[in-house]
Amino acid sequence: MNIDFIDLKVQYEDLKEDIQRRLDNVMSHGQFIMGPEVSACEEALCRFTNSEFALTCSSGTDALLIAMMALDIGPGDEVITSPFTFVANAEMIVLLGATPVLVDIEKDTYNIDATLIEEMITPRTKAIMPVGLYGQVADMDPINSLAERTGIPVIEDAAQSFGALYNGKRSCSLSDVGCTSFFPAKPLGCYGDGGAVFTNDSILMEKMNQIRTHGQEARYQHRRLGINGRLDTMQCAILLSKLSRFPREIEMRQLVAKRYDMGLREFSDRIQMPVIRDNRTSVYAQYTIQVDERERFQTFLKSKGIPTAIHYPMGIHQQQAYREKVKFKELPVTERAKDRVVSLPMYPDMKAETQDYIIGTIASYFKGSKGI
Ligand SMILES: *Cc1c(COP(=O)(O)O)cnc(C)c1O
Repeated sequence: MNIDFIDLKVQYEDLKEDIQRRLDNVMSHGQFIMGPEVSACEEALCRFTNSEFALTCSSGTDALLIAMMALDIGPGDEVITSPFTFVANAEMIVLLGATPVLVDIEKDTYNIDATLIEEMITPRTKAIMPVGLYGQVADMDPINSLAERTGIPVIEDAAQSFGALYNGKRSCSLSDVGCTSFFPAKPLGCYGDGGAVFTNDSILMEKMNQIRTHGQEARYQHRRLGINGRLDTMQCAILLSKLSRFPREIEMRQLVAKRYDMGLREFSDRIQMPVIRDNRTSVYAQYTIQVDERERFQTFLKSKGIPTAIHYPMGIHQQQAYREKVKFKELPVTERAKDRVVSLPMYPDMKAETQDYIIGTIASYFKGSKGI
């Protein structure tokens, strides 16, 4: 069997007619930038997340940039975030001249450890940026109350957790600003790069709206620095179609995760399984486990046609471009996790036979290596 890490062909077959009709419509009306699908998509995103405002933008990375520019983050400032994430968080902080302050993660959820944040706050701290890694939101309540007490805004990076729930509320609506990505492999993907920012604050919204279009207040009146950060009308048309299937896809992802949970449970002495807190759901951007001898595990699965991936092989503080640019105390949990995590194939339309084969192969690996 040859298995894809992510396979979205069934999803496309399901939506094909609708997507083609919507794209055809965009090509006919010809408003490729800020066409009517853009605001329709933003309204749908607001409804889905229960946010007051949503702005689509060019990528998840640009969503973080737009949010931080709107909060006037710049040289000398510090932003507290996770060391165990995709590079975009630290990248945009450094690009603005600010310093990423890295706080270690929880052993079981891989999200920033909220209890370690306060000691890293200084007068320079301008934002706290938790990341919902693998599809589960970080512990937002203590983070938000700390933020409220200290007057520091919270930017939620929901690139992987879009659609997840925290105390019954949707990711992206949990703090001052929510940022997400519509990169094709994310839980809600478009057919290229894309992202969005969310807020309930109308002043922040207006700033982000201006920043998205070159800091423009009115046509050719540039009030502030901005970027070319819009999302194409065509991508919004695709998202409108994909959003109709998304709630069902979240359930399908959770079903795939449950099958992994049940199938792998018997090896839980040798696999650290994903942990989802009681007050949360995960959209399983990744199904990530920990094993000893990860390379041997991956090589075995690869020889059986099963691809795996490592999210992420290094802490941000270990990346060459960031070593000298970040602040942190010690990050033992990150340093252990980066050598042990491995993500299994995960997508909503995974067939039961495919998943049985993956689980069976992992079982044969552990049974075969017993006593070795
Ligand atoms: C993917 C991702 C981003 C960046 O999103 P892009 O759309 O690829 O720019 C940011 N943060 C996290 C946690 C991500 O997974």
